[in-house]
Amino acid sequence: MRKIVIVGGVAGGATVAARLRRLDEKAEIVLFERGEYISFANCGLPYYIGDVIKDREELLLQTVAEMSKKFKIDIRDLSEVISVNPDSSEVIVKNLRTKEEYAEKYDELILSPGANPIRPKIDGIENAKNIFTLRNVPDTDKIKNYIDENKPKEAVVVGGGFIGIEMAENLSENGIKVHLVEMSSQIMAPLDFEMAQIIHKHLEDNGVNLILNNGVKSFKDNGKTIVLENGEEIKSDLTVLSIGVKPENSLALSAGLELGDRGHIKVNENLETSKPHIYAIGDAIETKDLIFSRETSLALASPANRQARVLADRLCGIENKYKGFLGTSVAKVFDLTVSSTGYNEKTLKKLGITNYKTIHTHPLSNAGYYPDAETIDMKFIFEVPSGKILGAQAVGSKGVEKRIDIIAASILGKLTVRDLQDLELAYAPPFSSAKDPVNMLGYVATNIIDGIVKTIRVDEINEITKNGGILIDVREKEEFEVENIEGSKNIPLAEIRNRLNEIPKDKKIYLTCQVGIRAYNGTRILKQLGFDVTNLDGGFRSYKQLYYKKSKNNCESICSTEKNETMNNPQEKIDLTNRKVTQIDARSLQCPGPIVKVYKALEEIEKGDLVEVITKDLGFKNDISSWCNRMGHKLLEVSTDKNKIVKAVIQKSGASISDSNNTNSQNNLTVEKKEEATMVVFSGDLDKAIASFIIATGAASMGKKVTLFFTFWGLNILRKESVNVKKNLLETMFSKMMPKGVNKLKISKMNMGGMGTKMIKYIMKEKNVDSLQELMERAQEMGVKFVACSMSMDVMGIKKEELIDNVEVGGVATYLSDAENSNLNLFI
Ligand code: FAD
Repeated sequence: MRKIVIVGGVAGGATVAARLRRLDEKAEIVLFERGEYISFANCGLPYYIGDVIKDREELLLQTVAEMSKKFKIDIRDLSEVISVNPDSSEVIVKNLRTKEEYAEKYDELILSPGANPIRPKIDGIENAKNIFTLRNVPDTDKIKNYIDENKPKEAVVVGGGFIGIEMAENLSENGIKVHLVEMSSQIMAPLDFEMAQIIHKHLEDNGVNLILNNGVKSFKDNGKTIVLENGEEIKSDLTVLSIGVKPENSLALSAGLELGDRGHIKVNENLETSKPHIYAIGDAIETKDLIFSRETSLALASPANRQARVLADRLCGIENKYKGFLGTSVAKVFDLTVSSTGYNEKTLKKLGITNYKTIHTHPLSNAGYYPDAETIDMKFIFEVPSGKILGAQAVGSKGVEKRIDIIAASILGKLTVRDLQDLELAYAPPFSSAKDPVNMLGYVATNIIDGIVKTIRVDEINEITKNGGILIDVREKEEFEVENIEGSKNIPLAEIRNRLNEIPKDKKIYLTCQVGIRAYNGTRILKQLGFDVTNLDGGFRSYKQLYYKKSKNNCESICSTEKNETMNNPQEKIDLTNRKVTQIDARSLQCPGPIVKVYKALEEIEKGDLVEVITKDLGFKNDISSWCNRMGHKLLEVSTDKNKIVKAVIQKSGASISDSNNTNSQNNLTVEKKEEATMVVFSGDLDKAIASFIIATGAASMGKKVTLFFTFWGLNILRKESVNVKKNLLETMFSKMMPKGVNKLKISKMNMGGMGTKMIKYIMKEKNVDSLQELMERAQEMGVKFVACSMSMDVMGIKKEELIDNVEVGGVATYLSDAENSNLNLFI
């Protein structure tokens, strides 16, 4: 009778054991598990902490006694396998109850030891009593007990992966204020940045304080204070570290198994390791991906279960192979579902793969006329010209994972984008549309491959419009006026055929709309009339998602959905009965639908009358506030109820406060003056440059939106010190005569052959005044916009590549449009 020994009793281990028994009644199966529990629901642990799963027993899918009996398996819990000897075909086991060690022989050995959360040696971590990681039931108990006993008010989750985000949500839903700290520029690594931006906004809309591009430097006060890499400090009553996992490979090392670069056990498609009769499955292994057959690893439950079945089959004589990973995943983030499969674009870029195209679509989950249809934001990546499917990402609140699953199945079946058009998918209005979002991806991708439509990406459009490119927005006037891409011109789709004289035929034309569909129709009209026309992929919605920026008080204002916050003074009683109130129910509308409705309603009412709107879009709370400020309307109230319905009351502008029958104090209203500052930096003198940045940072710190427009000599401030750019003779001579960057600038008076400049720098340092370099960095961090004058650059032969990062190149129109909103305008 052959003896199969299994190490690890959860996802991979328990599954392989059960399948082995179903296929082979005679084999002796011994399963070692270091912990007290087997076959528990790791994936459910965050939801038990968040009280979504109420009963702890629900997490324990099998007990040792039940499974031993049901499957006739010798399960030894609290038994750690401490080494493997392939020569003698035995493992050494330590009984953690008795501390006794013994050898156990095997004919076949299966390793499914999983992966361990990383707990780095950060300063102060040893003394902290409030820092946790989450992998198993005992970890869960510790966190849950800590919460029950200490009632934390603020928690810090370090790491924006799946577990980090699930913990952020569950702690938040428990009424704890959560700060989520992530070292990189985005959370959720499987997503590309613009898709992750949707989640960033949603977390912030739900009150999570998201801190990106920052890591934990050290812990202070026994873990109660966290010092971040940038020096900032945050308070934490409870900290959860979820910065990734590392494979448990100590047994593999003891057995001399071949490991991958990141320490995973290498296996082939038969799940065989480098030593005979030793197999490995689950989080600890490295195998191939399904798309390019590159070596990769993945810590997810579905592959572990699949590998377990394949291996059990093989060991029992059934031909089966593990074909590889796709990385299909799904997660819940408050009200959103986030799902992806295959490659993302950033990985393709890292691998140097360029023969691909991406598309962004925003279809509805089901027929728009059926209640509760929700938008799904999708990104789809395919190879050109073959049409091979490389990956997809989707975010939304309904029908998200269903679409990703279809695409995952299509990749396995080696379907191309053309095949996606032909998929016959289940349809009825509550579930889908007759053209399912997956069919639509097939249509769009095939149009691109066949040259029926050209697209550009939203991250390319600003550069195009700044350089005079023509972007036409074909949405309706009201939609356009609510918000639009700077530099775009509005010609609604229905008017395009009658306004062809406004569109130059000798220039490239770019079209956009809300999600790309109307613009696609527009491109077809113009293309057939001989225009060179390109559609902006994903439209304004994708543009807005990509450029989402956390608003100052976003997470503050929506932390609690319980309390109703009003914008007006609590003592102030607004008597709405004396005003005509137009009610809008925008709960079924997606952004910017609710604002468009408000806009239209305000057009139809008298000054001083009110619009009351309700919506499910949590971001509306901030959007309506800044929109009212921009348009000069008064936002009298904005609140969120416990069902996360946002209500706003807006008064049409023009009415004096006394008009509104409520109060005579203007302080109580939310209308803010347009507070912008613009400065033309003409001079390239060090002292004047310093003065410019001191004023700019000062103005920015007062909440002003600041634009610095660098022209002529001022452009030298923005030059990098060493960069080689191709220039003609005249440009090269000119370039050599001018100072290159901040370190080469001189003061305007008393320079004394450079002595004066050195002295002023010395004095500034002595007096702890920031250097010009630091002032510039600070200004950029504070959102000060640097615009380099395109005309002066041209005249002086300065190229964009010579300038420091994050400088926009713009014409005088850019400056003037910012200056129009300014109440501070300086020329230096
Ligand atoms: P595990 O299930 O971790 O099992 C390994 C077991 O081996 C452990 O119990 C360990 O104690 C034992 N062991 C290790 N070394 C030894 C030894 N030397 N001797 C004896 N026993 C040993 N995946 C998803 O796909 N979706 C999700 O939503 C999801 N959510 C998750 C949430 C959390 C909180 C966690 C921790 C994981 C989640 N995962 C999720 C990941 C998923 O649980 C893992 O991918 C999966 O469990 C891996 O299976 P495995 O058998 O390789 O390892």
